[in-house]
Amino acid sequence: MKNNIILTKNPAETKKFAENFSKSLKEGDILCLYGNLGSGKTTFVQGLAKGLGIKKRIFSPTFIIVRSYKIDDRNFYHIDLYRTQAKQDLLGVGIDEILKDNKNIVCVEWAEKLFDLIPRKRMDIKFKYLRNDEREIGIKTYD
Ligand code: ADP
Ligand code: MG
Repeated sequence: MKNNIILTKNPAETKKFAENFSKSLKEGDILCLYGNLGSGKTTFVQGLAKGLGIKKRIFSPTFIIVRSYKIDDRNFYHIDLYRTQAKQDLLGVGIDEILKDNKNIVCVEWAEKLFDLIPRKRMDIKFKYLRNDEREIGIKTYD
C-alpha cells in the first residue's frame, strides 16, 4: 500500500494536481473519492478529465449518477453516488458492469456507497476541508 498526502491552496491547484495525476492512469483503474460536500471531489475530476484529453465540461451530476466520456477506444466514467441509498440503485444503472470492464477508467464520488461492489484493487482518494481554499488530498493505492 502506498500513501501520499498533498495540500492544495485553491481549486486551480487541485485541478492541476489531478491533471498531472491523470497521466499515470491506465485502463481498468478505479478511483474511489471520499469527502464531505465541497471538499473538492468534483473539482479533482475536472482536472482528471482535462488531463485525459476530454474536452466536454464536467459537471456535478445531479439526477444522473453516471456520466461517460469517450477517450479513443476507452471510456472515462464519472459516477456520483451522493443521492443513492441502496445497492439496488447501483445495479439499476449497471455500475457493477462498469466496474468490471477493464477498458474503463472510473472515478466514483461518495465511494463508500458502493458497499460490497467496492473493488479490492483501487485507489482511495480522501478530500478534507482545511480552511477557506485549502484542502488536503490523501491518496492510497492498493495492488
Ligand atoms: P465536492 O464534489 O467534493 O462536493 P466540489 O469540487 O464540487 O466538491 O466543490 C469544491 C468547492 O470548493 C468549489 O466551489 C471549489 O471552487 C472550492 N474550493 C476552494 N478551494 C479548493 C481547493 N483547494 N480544491 C478544490 N476545491 C476548492
Ligand atoms: Mg461532487
